[in-house]
Parts: sequence; structure tokens; C-alpha cells
Amino acid sequence: MYKSVHPRQLKFQALIAKSFLSVFKKWYRDMTEKSSEINESRNAVVLVVAHCILNRSTRWWQKGQSAERNFGPVNEITRFLSDNKIGAFQLPCPEYTFLGNPRPPATKDDYENLQGFKEHCEQLAAESVNHLRLLVEKGLEPKIVFLAVVGIERSPCCGVNCTPRSIDGETRYKKEKGLFLEALFEELKKLGYTIPVVGLDLHQPEDACRKLTVLLKKCAK
Ligand code: SF4
Repeated sequence: MYKSVHPRQLKFQALIAKSFLSVFKKWYRDMTEKSSEINESRNAVVLVVAHCILNRSTRWWQKGQSAERNFGPVNEITRFLSDNKIGAFQLPCPEYTFLGNPRPPATKDDYENLQGFKEHCEQLAAESVNHLRLLVEKGLEPKIVFLAVVGIERSPCCGVNCTPRSIDGETRYKKEKGLFLEALFEELKKLGYTIPVVGLDLHQPEDACRKLTVLLKKCAK
């Protein structure tokens, strides 16, 4: 059955619809303004990471050892990246691209004496830094800033403060960079780039995340 609507009721409904529309328009305008403000004021932050942080399959592996440690990424770091909307630049793995897996355990001295390996590291470092340079130079808006380079402690190539050395027939850990990170920082120096470096201890990844959080706060200032 047709039910007539009183003109006053119609007017009231139109008024409600109109005020809802204006509230919605204001909300939409605020939201778009806010997001463009964020985009304008924020740089895109990128973390430069040792290859095996995102892809553990390249980690040193020997027959008989569990392959579990070679699966997936380092979750703590991927979580840190996604929670803070940070991009990642994955460095190449110098050991894997030279020797593959399985490969023998080795110290920095062993790799220094391995024919052609130092040049391999230098070439990968030069290519990586050239790529980083392009990211900076081509990123007019938003600008790209590098939060840090993350290396892997106890690695002969990617160590930061803890790198294995052969001393008196034994493996001892020294406070120095690994072979690849040394080459990488040499290349960065040539360009005048100063990027902080953080060592990731795979047994305590939270420590590196804490250091990165401190750097991120400084970066946002
Ligand atoms: S060389 Fe570096 S990237 Fe490759 S497995 Fe060792 S620590 Fe990871």
C-alpha cells in the first residue's frame, strides 16, 4: 500500500543527507591532506642488509648439519621493517656467489688467501654502492635515506665487530669488519656516504632491532 510522506519529513531527511555529505567531505579532505603532508615531510627509509638476513638459504651449511637455519628470512628484522614501513636493500652474498653450498668453514684469513675472492668482494661492493648511489640520486621525491647497513656478526665476510681470524692455529674473533663489509665501506667512503653500521647477532637479533630503533628515532628528528 502506498504511504504518503509528509513534506516536512522529506525536508528533514534531505537535511540529514546533506549534513552527512558535508561531514563525509570534510573527513575525506582532512584524510587526503594529512596523507599528503606525511608523504611530503617523510623521507623513504631504507635498510641495507646482508643478503642472508632476507634469504637465509645462502648461509654457510655443511653436510650433516640441520638445514633449518637456512630457511626463510630473519623474522625479527622483517617484522621491524614492516612495523616501521622501512624498505630493504639486499646486498649480495659474496661467499655463496663464489663457493655456493655446502662450503667449508673459514676465517677472514682463509678468504683473504683464497685466490680471486678479494676481487670478487670488491666487485660486488662496487656494484652495490653504485646501486645505492642511484637510489639516492634518482629519488627526488620522496628522498631515500639509508638507516644503516646491517652485517652479520661472526661472519668472515659480513662481520661488523666480531670477525673470525686464524691466530696460532685457532679461530679467534676480532673486533673488525669482515672482508666484504670492508670493501663496501671503502666504496661508500669514495662517494662520501656515511651510513651507520649495525652487527646482527643471529642468536640475539633483538639487540640489532633495538639499535635500529634508536637510529630510526634520530632519523625522524
Ligand atoms: S657471506 Fe654474508 S650474506 Fe653471505 S651468508 Fe655469510 S653473512 Fe650471510
